[in-house]
Amino acid sequence: MSHPTTNTVVPSICPFCGVGCGMGIQVCDGKVVGVEPQLNHPVSQGKLCTKGWSTPYAVDPIDRITTPLIREGDSFRPASWDEACNTIVEAINAAQQEQGPDAVGVIACARATNEDCYAAQKFARAALHTNNIDHCARICHSPSVAGLRQTLGSGAMTNSISDIALADLLVIFGCDPTSNHTIIGGQIIAAKLAGAKLLVVDPRSTRLAQMADLHLQLRLGTNIALINGLLNIIFDNGWEAREFLDSRCENEAALRRKVEDYPPERVAEITGVPVDKLIAAAKMYSQAQRAMLTYGMGITQYISGTNNVIAISNLALVAGQIGRPGTGINPLRGQNNVQGACDMGALPNVFPGYQDVTDSALRQHFERAWKCALPAQKGLTSLGMTQATLDDSFRCMIIMGEDPVVTDPDQNHVQRALQALDMLVVIELVMTETAKLADVVLPAAAFSEKSGTFTNCERRVKHITAAISPPGEARSDWMILGELATRLGYNGMQWQSAEAVFDEMASLNPLYASMSYAKLIEKSGLQWPCDAAHPDGTPLLHSERFSRGKGRLIAVDHSEIDELPDEAYPLFLTTTRLHFHYGCGSMTRKSPLLERETPVGVLFIHPHDADRLNIRAQDPVRISSRRGTVETRAMLSDELPPGTVAMPYHFKEAPSNQLTNNAQDPVTKMPELKACAVRVEKIEVQEAMPG
Ligand code: SF4
Repeated sequence: MSHPTTNTVVPSICPFCGVGCGMGIQVCDGKVVGVEPQLNHPVSQGKLCTKGWSTPYAVDPIDRITTPLIREGDSFRPASWDEACNTIVEAINAAQQEQGPDAVGVIACARATNEDCYAAQKFARAALHTNNIDHCARICHSPSVAGLRQTLGSGAMTNSISDIALADLLVIFGCDPTSNHTIIGGQIIAAKLAGAKLLVVDPRSTRLAQMADLHLQLRLGTNIALINGLLNIIFDNGWEAREFLDSRCENEAALRRKVEDYPPERVAEITGVPVDKLIAAAKMYSQAQRAMLTYGMGITQYISGTNNVIAISNLALVAGQIGRPGTGINPLRGQNNVQGACDMGALPNVFPGYQDVTDSALRQHFERAWKCALPAQKGLTSLGMTQATLDDSFRCMIIMGEDPVVTDPDQNHVQRALQALDMLVVIELVMTETAKLADVVLPAAAFSEKSGTFTNCERRVKHITAAISPPGEARSDWMILGELATRLGYNGMQWQSAEAVFDEMASLNPLYASMSYAKLIEKSGLQWPCDAAHPDGTPLLHSERFSRGKGRLIAVDHSEIDELPDEAYPLFLTTTRLHFHYGCGSMTRKSPLLERETPVGVLFIHPHDADRLNIRAQDPVRISSRRGTVETRAMLSDELPPGTVAMPYHFKEAPSNQLTNNAQDPVTKMPELKACAVRVEKIEVQEAMPG
């Protein structure tokens, strides 16, 4: 592969969040020396946030893994690709001979390219003969995929990011885009300054809440009660979109009956939001010309996650705020390619394009294409694989670029499971906390070192080109998995280029059917579905009909959080993200500029609670739940309601996931990361304290 050797700018996509901002990678003498915004990018229009600007640190070769590594006692020794692959294949064969194909599984990665994720699910299904394939969408937006598929037929953002400028009301529900999707956050602020109204529904008083026309500061975990209350008011006042409901929706009567149980007074009691604010919000949303609703993990990361998404969908359908520009239901996806990883079928229940693995006609279609028999049963989720390991029915796991030790709930449980595996293979850029537990570590190429495609949260598929060569012996994931597949006896993954992987995927994925690299480059990206009927893509979903035909209203009930505060653990803990960091921190924490902006771990606590516990700003504190204990420093914040404390999960020094609850949504197995019960104590100065 030849790459630019003098100063060059290679067009690419920011490797962090799901906004998918366009960036140019500045290359000099085969090294990334900087980045710059792409002026004409349809989403970011010449802007990058602090994380995007820090990209050169994220791909800095200094800490990179450059050869395969094999565990020897407590350390690792370099190995050849041949030896590493043979070691992995021997372990997989032994596990499968003794316990069957489902004793192994793969965790793909929401920051890998579509080509890598397609290869990961094909490797699991065709080479390992198991549907045990999943990725971190499980713990961010799996309820969006499951919930919106039931109500609309498609589990993705319905509108385009540029529609923010068209809405006359923006509803921000359970998320803080100014921190987590910063360029979208900026566009929301610009729309507000240009005259749009802003309604924020969040237990926290976020930046957007502070500038909103109306803020509903509901109690943690009362989303469904609040939405059912709004629907009760809308129906009671005749504010529903009558014509839209009659012509495009079904099951209205059952929903009406259900929301009769949620009169405003009862809802005010459950949620803590006064009746007058509920009435104002119901009127504001239902009577707006164009109301665009966005939501985040304040909706999905609950044991009621799927029902929360269904409730959001009920609200949009009843108010007729969907299917038109400047409206819609818009889940803000976390990782830069989490939409793509789902579209590629890196999930235990669907092939690429959300085609059900249990449907025999679809399965036969894939069997003919891939020339192999395929498993008929759904596979295990990522957390299901962890549990199966502790139950002795799962033996080998391949993890591609994710760090579940830091990001999954109940960290001690995850560590125990990974250590109990016969073989843990981690394909990574750097030595993450998960990679440190591996038996074999394989060096991966970073996004700047490979060609491929990413799909952002508005379903826009964009092509990226390799700007530099991978360091040492690092390779793209699709190449690594192709090599392992061949050694396992499956010859259907011997692609010669990323483009060949994409073309095969597009031939099997109806949503991407009319896409090609040439067309993606020519059109500056295309939004799916892109097929014979929509050759230039689809910026707006559901304009004439819903993907499933009629929009389905589904009656859902409020349910309590799994672990409520009690005498022993009297406070709620919720998890948050910070503006200056991203995910497990393995990329952003390499930037000294971003590190400078935040302390190493922090507990946000309301001044009233701090006062009661004799805690002052910067005091060392110990936070305990039924699952573990973490020590960090306190930061006073009146953005939280009293009785609720918050921790970000970016910091391995103060891992909030030591504390979080693994209770799961019954539909998607999403853990309840947004709420658990904890106790907070001040650490007296003579006790030891982390730096
Ligand atoms: Fe990157 Fe997201 Fe920031 Fe855009 S908003 S620059 S995609 S981190």
